[in-house]
Amino acid sequence: MLLKEYRDYFRKELLPIYDEQEVDSFFYLILEKLHRLKRIDLALAAETLLEETKLSEWNAIISELQKQKPIQYLLGETEFYGLPFLVNENVLIPRPETEELVELILSNVFKVMESNPITILDIGTGSGCISIALAKNISASAVHAIDVSEAALATARRNAENNQVKVNFLLKNILETEDLEQQFDIIVSNPPYVRNLEKTEIKPNVLAHEPHLALFVDDEDALIFYRKIAQLAQKNLKPNGWLYFEINQYLGKETAQLLKDLGFQQVTLLKDIYGNDRMLSATYS
Ligand code: GLN
Repeated sequence: MLLKEYRDYFRKELLPIYDEQEVDSFFYLILEKLHRLKRIDLALAAETLLEETKLSEWNAIISELQKQKPIQYLLGETEFYGLPFLVNENVLIPRPETEELVELILSNVFKVMESNPITILDIGTGSGCISIALAKNISASAVHAIDVSEAALATARRNAENNQVKVNFLLKNILETEDLEQQFDIIVSNPPYVRNLEKTEIKPNVLAHEPHLALFVDDEDALIFYRKIAQLAQKNLKPNGWLYFEINQYLGKETAQLLKDLGFQQVTLLKDIYGNDRMLSATYS
């Protein structure tokens, strides 16, 4: 089969499940991964004959996509803040909202931080996307990251190596941690925050394939991670240090109030590009 013919077949197989734009973006991502061809090269390569082995690789991917497996897991990689990241079912796929959180931190660091190097802790690092993007973009930084999952940390370590940054990764359950044993300029976290009652809103590809450990919290105590991390930050933030959170869009006010009640100052609630409450920053002295 010629590549251009296969493209029609690919569309026909996936259009019942995904919208056209998504199907096209899958096609180009796979084209790049399997053939090292960019979108722009397709016109020239359209008449290329797909060999048996490639054909079966394409078909295998189609059948997984039909089962709603995220394309990032199928390709084993994705991009975050312009950097390559390996991903697998042990880590959440980095989200654009989280890129906005990194952007917020970086813009503040360059405005207000003077201490050198800047000491950063990322709690619940997963693929390592936040800690690695910060380490890559703040040259004078000492970055630490913790996670409760050994498998996630193994992925994060490879990502740090591939991106040529140093991050000190530690296996730790934050809910069982009493002291972080060091003072930080910045503590950042994108902890689990989706309530069970919000499960109906979660797309099937997320629900069936992404790690629930990284996503869900009890309806009764949805802010458990925020409370614990804020309590640790009271002890382990340097004077004028900053705490940054990605948050549940429906709990913006409640999460901000929790920080105020714990004595944090300059508590600022920020929206993501979709207009949802998504980030919080605060300081403690
Ligand atoms: N933003 C993610 C989602 O909507 C959730 C991330 C998280 O729970 N920390 O799937």
